[in-house]
Amino acid sequence: MGVVVLKFGGTSVGNVERIKNTANRILDEKKMGNQVVVVVSAMGKTTDQLVTLAKELSSYPNKREMDMLLSTGEQVTISLLSMALAEKGHSAISFTGWQAGILTESVHSNARIIDIDQKRIINQLAEGNIVIVAGFQGVSTDGEITTLGRGGSDTTAVALAAALEAEKCVIYTDVTGVYTSDPRFIPQARKLEAISYDEMLELSNLGAGVLHSRAVEFAKNYQIPLEVCSSLERVAGTVIEEEVTVEKSLVVRGVAFEGDITRITIFGLKNSFQNLSSVFTTLANNNINVDIIIQNQTDGEDAYLSFSIKNDDLHDTSKILEDYQETLGFDHFEYEAGLAKVSIIGSGMISNPGVAAKMFSTLAEQNIMIKMVSTSEIKVSTVIEEQQMIKAVESLHTAFGLDLVAMK
Ligand code: ADP
Ligand code: ASP
Ligand code: MG
Repeated sequence: MGVVVLKFGGTSVGNVERIKNTANRILDEKKMGNQVVVVVSAMGKTTDQLVTLAKELSSYPNKREMDMLLSTGEQVTISLLSMALAEKGHSAISFTGWQAGILTESVHSNARIIDIDQKRIINQLAEGNIVIVAGFQGVSTDGEITTLGRGGSDTTAVALAAALEAEKCVIYTDVTGVYTSDPRFIPQARKLEAISYDEMLELSNLGAGVLHSRAVEFAKNYQIPLEVCSSLERVAGTVIEEEVTVEKSLVVRGVAFEGDITRITIFGLKNSFQNLSSVFTTLANNNINVDIIIQNQTDGEDAYLSFSIKNDDLHDTSKILEDYQETLGFDHFEYEAGLAKVSIIGSGMISNPGVAAKMFSTLAEQNIMIKMVSTSEIKVSTVIEEQQMIKAVESLHTAFGLDLVAMK
């Protein structure tokens, strides 16, 4: 009898009917003779509503208290789902993150899982119970409730699958799989039958919210077979695995995008050799995630430095730069909000030159100005005006032949 981990997102447990439907999907797995661990998100838009509530009271709410607040969302779902299963005659037990043994680093709002003590779950499974775990939360080494970052329930599921050596981990959501781009905004997006861990990792990191990127990291590191499919429609989903054999002809397999990006530019950075590292060490020590970095230094001149961050980090970043301006040794800084990042992803890029050039010419044809660029072996990212984001994604989707992917 194998362990399977099933994760149901917010829409899949958004109301009583959906919770009953989720209970049925769980029982299908149980009836196949599996030991079932279920991870759930908060119901519907609960997490967003809790964030709004907090923002009504405070512009920059304390991060510890935010974790305390947001972790309540998932607790509602675990208990209701457990009741729904009991009503259908099956014994289930709900666990919060700490009860499930999920230990995280001592960081609020975006903690990483560092260990899982799976004893309690294993004991419950051995007794025949379905175990339901609250996603997106854990307990830190100093006993505080932490959360794993928005979308973090996926990571709870995959981390549990790794700790329990599960046979599979299925992420049930409100779309039928991983698409070539977000189907909610890009009507011509096509479902992919399969995608590699590396490509999925880039897609997630670059804005495709269908999977939390740390979940993909765990899946790759522990070689966990991962599947994304719909909780409502019974159709084949997308498999995420090491090597993908289907749709090999696609050089680009996805277009990801994310708005709410700000570009910070630091002018007159003295002694850029030492100070460059000091700037980023200072930001990292304050948990600011810096994305694309561009530095420009001409002989004998002070350097200037640009980097992109999420809009949400602008307040903290500005404060840090003001506080450390003298220590870091620069003249002044400016910022530009209202930007977006649009990226193309595909492992076929490694062996096909000219992909970046085609991306730039496609954007140029649409009169879209590129403000920053970053590349890796399997992706090219550009920062552009947020107003032009969807137009950019649609034109790239067409230019790289993704409109023509056959849907199964
Ligand atoms: P859940 O609540 O189930 O975790 P999410 O909202 O976190 O659901 O993720 C599913 C959503 O991800 C979809 O509704 C879709 O709009 C979005 N999405 C973004 N990029 C993609 C993509 N490439 N393929 C599929 N869905 C995507
Ligand atoms: N409820 C959390 C969120 O909305 C975690 C999750 O759904 O994965 O971000
Ligand atoms: Mg999600």
